[in-house]
Amino acid sequence: MYTSDTIVAPATASGQGAVAIVRLSGPCAFSILHRLWRPLSGKGLRPRRLLLGEVRNPASGAVIDRAMAVVMPAPKSFTGEDIAEIHCHGGTFIVRQIVAAALDAGARMAAPGEFSRRAFLNGRLDLAEAEAIADLVAAQSESALALALSQLNGTLSRKVRALREQVIAIRAALEAHIDFADEDIALPDTNEIDARCAQLFADLKSLYDSFARGRLLRAGAKAAIVGKPNVGKSSLLNLLLGVDRAIVTPIAGTTRDIIEDTVKLDAYSLTLQDGAGIRETAEVVEQIGVERARTAAAEADLLLVVFDASRPLTDDDRGVITLCLGRPAVAVLNKIDLPPQVGAQELQRSGLTTPVVAVSALRGDGLDELRAELIKMVKAISGETHSESVAVSRQRHRAALGEALAALDCARCGLASRMPPEIVAEDISAVGQALAKITGEVTSEDVLDAIFSEFCIGK
Ligand code: GDP
Repeated sequence: MYTSDTIVAPATASGQGAVAIVRLSGPCAFSILHRLWRPLSGKGLRPRRLLLGEVRNPASGAVIDRAMAVVMPAPKSFTGEDIAEIHCHGGTFIVRQIVAAALDAGARMAAPGEFSRRAFLNGRLDLAEAEAIADLVAAQSESALALALSQLNGTLSRKVRALREQVIAIRAALEAHIDFADEDIALPDTNEIDARCAQLFADLKSLYDSFARGRLLRAGAKAAIVGKPNVGKSSLLNLLLGVDRAIVTPIAGTTRDIIEDTVKLDAYSLTLQDGAGIRETAEVVEQIGVERARTAAAEADLLLVVFDASRPLTDDDRGVITLCLGRPAVAVLNKIDLPPQVGAQELQRSGLTTPVVAVSALRGDGLDELRAELIKMVKAISGETHSESVAVSRQRHRAALGEALAALDCARCGLASRMPPEIVAEDISAVGQALAKITGEVTSEDVLDAIFSEFCIGK
C-alpha cells in the first residue's frame, strides 16, 4: 500500500452553509482527530458512525465548535487510508480554525485532488474513475451527469480492460510463433492473427470516434448565432438566456466581440455565441468582428442562422445561407410581429435546407418551438443520454486511443509484410501500453500531477 503523511482540507465548498466537513486522511488521522475533538458523551467513536462532540484548539484548549465526527478505517475508505471527518457548523471562520488546529496537531494541508490521488495510488479507483469524479462534480446537465456516473461505475474501464484482453490474446498467439517456430507443433495461423487485429482495430476505432459524442455530452454543444447585422441575433441570445446579456440597438454593427453564455435545454447544456453580423464591410474594427464571428461559426457544433422576416432577402443573407450548407443548423425567421416580406419558402428557394422556426425575439413568440427544434438538433449531434453507452469524453483518453490505433496499424503492416513475430509483438505491446494509460496502469508523476491538479482542494 502507498503510505504517506496525514493530510487535511475542507471537503465542502468555501462560504457559509449549514454544515461544513473537514477531512483528514493518513496514518495519523485518528490520533490528530482525538487531539482536536472529544465526544460529549462518554462513548467512543465507532467506524462509520457519527458522534457529537466538541472541537477545541489543542494548544489553548479554547472551544472552536460543537461538531460531529466520523472515522473510516483503512483499507475500506475512499482513500484506502484511515479517514477522519469533522462535520462542523458551516462558517468560514470555524472551518479555518479547525484546519489550522489540525495543521498544528501534525497534519499537512492537502494539495488539490490529493485525496483522490491517494485513492488511485491505493487501488481504490482507477484513473478513468478518478477523472469521472471530477466530471461528476463539474457536471452542469443531466447528460454530463449520466456520462460521468457511467464512467464512475466503470463502463469505460471495463471496455478498456476488454480491449486489453484482446491485445493479450494476440500477443499470446505471436509468442507461440516466437517460442515454437522451430518445433513441429501447430501454430496459430497469421491470417487468424490478422483477423483478430482487424477486429481490435474496429473496436478501438469505434471507441476513439465516440469522443465526438462524449465531448458534447460532457461539456455541452456550442451554437453560433449567425446572420447579417440587425436581424435580431443579440435579441435572440437574450430571449434564449432569459436575461439581457447582449446590448440590443437599431444601429447595425453594434456587437463586435463574441458574447457567450450557456443555456440549459432539457437534459443538455448549450453554449450560445453571439458575434458581429456577417456582411461585407470596409470598416476595420467591424472587419475584425466579422472575422471572429466567422471563426466562431466554423468551430461551432451547430449554427443558429437568423433572418429578418420584415425585410427582403439580400446578398448578405445569401452569404449566410452558404455558410451553413452541410452543417447542423436551425434557421430563425425573426421579427414576425412586423408585416412579412420573406417566408420560409423563399429561404428554401435560396438554398436553405435546415428547419425554419418563425419567432419574434421582441415579443417572445415562437420561443417554445425554437427550444424544441434546438433540443432535437442537440440530441441528433450528441446522441441520446444512455447511462450504459460507452463514450470517451476526455482528450487524454482520446489521445491514448489514437496511440493504440497507430501502434496496431504498425503491427498489421508488420504482419502483412511478414516481419519477424518479435517485431510485431513489440507493436502489439505498445497497443496494450497505450490502453493502460487510460486506466492508469501505466502512468507518470507528471501525468498524475496534471490530472489531479484540476481537482479542487479536499477532493
Ligand atoms: P443583431 O444586430 O442581429 O444582434 O440585432 P439586435 O438584436 O441588436 O436587434 C436589432 C434591432 O432589431 C433592434 O432595434 C431590436 O429591437 C430589433 N428587433 C430584434 N428582434 C425583433 C423582433 O422580433 N421584432 C421587432 N419588431 N424588432 C426586433
